[in-house]
Amino acid sequence: MNKKEDLIKYWIDENIVSDKRIIDAFQKINRENFVPEEYKNLAYNDYPLSIGEEQTISQPTTVAIMTSLLEPKEDQKILEIGTGSGYQVAILGKIVGKGGKITSVEIIPKLAEFAKKNLKKENITNVEIINADGSSGYKKGAPYDRILVTAGTPKITETLISQLNDNGIIVAPVGFDIYSLTMTKIIKKGKKRVKEEHGIFSFVPLIGKEGFDSRWK
Ligand code: SAM
Repeated sequence: MNKKEDLIKYWIDENIVSDKRIIDAFQKINRENFVPEEYKNLAYNDYPLSIGEEQTISQPTTVAIMTSLLEPKEDQKILEIGTGSGYQVAILGKIVGKGGKITSVEIIPKLAEFAKKNLKKENITNVEIINADGSSGYKKGAPYDRILVTAGTPKITETLISQLNDNGIIVAPVGFDIYSLTMTKIIKKGKKRVKEEHGIFSFVPLIGKEGFDSRWK
C-alpha cells in the first residue's frame, strides 16, 4: 500500500504541485474518507477507484494536476461540476478557507448524499452540494472565481464561461472520446479567452443538457 506522503513527495519532485496551500490541503484531507469501506487500504494507490453508480473517484495525481491548473486561492468562490465522492471539493474547501465557498453539483442523488457524508468526516463546512444537472453550471451561485469540471465534456460552453468572473479560470477535460480527453484551461480576459492544453486524460462522461446527452438530440 502506498502512503499519502509518498504521493505528495512525488508531486513536489515532479513539479506537479508547488503551491504551499495546495500541498497543505492534500496533507490534511484523507482520501480514505472518500472511498467505499472495501477500498480504504487502496486509498493512496495512484489510480481511480469505483464509488458505485458506475462512477469513480479520480486518480490522486489527476486531482493534483487539476487543482494546480485551477490556481485556487484563499477566500475564493469556486464551482465544481461532478461532486462524485466529494474528495476534490474537500481539497478546494481547505484551500479557500473560511472566507471562501465551494459549490459542487452532482447529478446522481446517491452520490450527492455519499459526498455530504464524507465531507462531514473531515469537518468541511464551506462546501455546498447541489443534486442537479450541472452541465449548464449553477447560475444561482454565479459569478465564480474558478470553475472545475471533473467529468469529460464535449466542450467548454459559453454558458459556463459566462458564470466566471473576469480573470477567472475554468479547467475541464474536453473532447468527444472519453478515453482521450484534453485537459483544457481557459482564462477569461474580458471578451478574450486564453486557452491552454495540458495533456491527455480519460474520465467518465458529463451527461445532461449541455453534456454528452446533447450530442444525440
Ligand atoms: N470530483 C469527483 C471526486 O472528487 O470524487 C470525481 C468526479 S467523477 C470522475 C464524475 C462525476 O460527475 C460523477 O459523480 C458523475 O455522476 C458526475 N456527473 C456526470 N454528469 C453530470 C452532470 N451533468 N451534472 C453533475 N454531475 C455530473
